[in-house]
Amino acid sequence: MSVFSALIDQGETVAVLERAVGASRDSTDESQDMTHAWLFTGPPGSGRSNAALAFASALVCRAGGCGDCVDCRTALSGSHADVELIQTEGLSIKIDEIRELITRAAWTPSVATYRVVVMEDADRLTESAANALLKAIEEPSTRTIWLLCAPTVSDVLPTIRSRTRNLTLRTPSASAVSLLLQGEGISTNLANFAASASQGHIGRARYLARDQAARDIRNDILKLPTTIVDLASAFAAAAKLVDAAKSQAESDAEKKNDAELVALKEAWGQQGTKIVAGGAKAVKELEKEQKSRQTRMVRDYLDRALLDIATLYRDILMVQSGASGGAAELINTDIPDVINGLVAKSTAEQTLAKLETIMKTRAQLLHNAAPLLVIEAMMVQLR
Ligand SMILES: [Zn+2]
Repeated sequence: MSVFSALIDQGETVAVLERAVGASRDSTDESQDMTHAWLFTGPPGSGRSNAALAFASALVCRAGGCGDCVDCRTALSGSHADVELIQTEGLSIKIDEIRELITRAAWTPSVATYRVVVMEDADRLTESAANALLKAIEEPSTRTIWLLCAPTVSDVLPTIRSRTRNLTLRTPSASAVSLLLQGEGISTNLANFAASASQGHIGRARYLARDQAARDIRNDILKLPTTIVDLASAFAAAAKLVDAAKSQAESDAEKKNDAELVALKEAWGQQGTKIVAGGAKAVKELEKEQKSRQTRMVRDYLDRALLDIATLYRDILMVQSGASGGAAELINTDIPDVINGLVAKSTAEQTLAKLETIMKTRAQLLHNAAPLLVIEAMMVQLR
């Protein structure tokens, strides 16, 4: 099965990539189908890094991406000798990392025709790192291929944008995501629900379909608006949501933090409780990175929750405006009581205003407003 068959609902992108792979394998090809620097963009969960990795596999596979050989399998998992996968846990990719990467990227491929670099979060390049990378992209070694990924083209420097070929993935349809989940052994009902509730975010759909706890948390969040009757209950709802976000981020971060600290101390040759001078500084830097990552995780979690709440009000609006011909068109088909209860308590105009409030709150969170303050303000408006 082709490496591209794992890309859900991305027919146009796959066609472009297959033409590029064809051109790359034909030394007499004079088309512009293949180029050495690409920028994969698309909404979260659309699978932009999967698309980049599939392309990388196809470029190093002798059969153009059979999906089956050692080259394909190791490339897809990021362990192929000629495919370098750059994943970032931290908030930024710094210039030192890029300098080292550029040196490695210039090596001749060991087994394949190309050396391919897949960078998952090109939007996190610092400006100096981006400029260093730009130099490498401008003077391409003919055998190094750069595949950068970012949410949108405006998330990378214009200079990088202008020297890469952009491919935009689309949000996969709910039916395509549901079919994918069913193929993974999820029941039809659960797959349909998860695909619809996650709004085309494949990772989120998979998580919801497989994890009862994730479904419970989502359910609790969606019930929050029904608890708001006055100012006091609005503040309580806000506190509940922010606390949940914080504890979720804390438990997710803890798992990573400890392992990173152990690895770092090992790298610095710590013996017993002693650590050499430079090592202590490195530990401090790591702890700072970890703290900022946790802050971002809280925001990501809240953003996810606000999107869920927005789908609830979208459903309410559908019913209130008579646009919904039946339950089948609703996103949150699992909570008819919650939807109907709220439908009776407001007009369509009020619901629309609430939806706008939620979206405005998401934008404020994105711009680093204090989470509790903006969530409180939002819950008060949702009364
Ligand atoms: Zn292969």
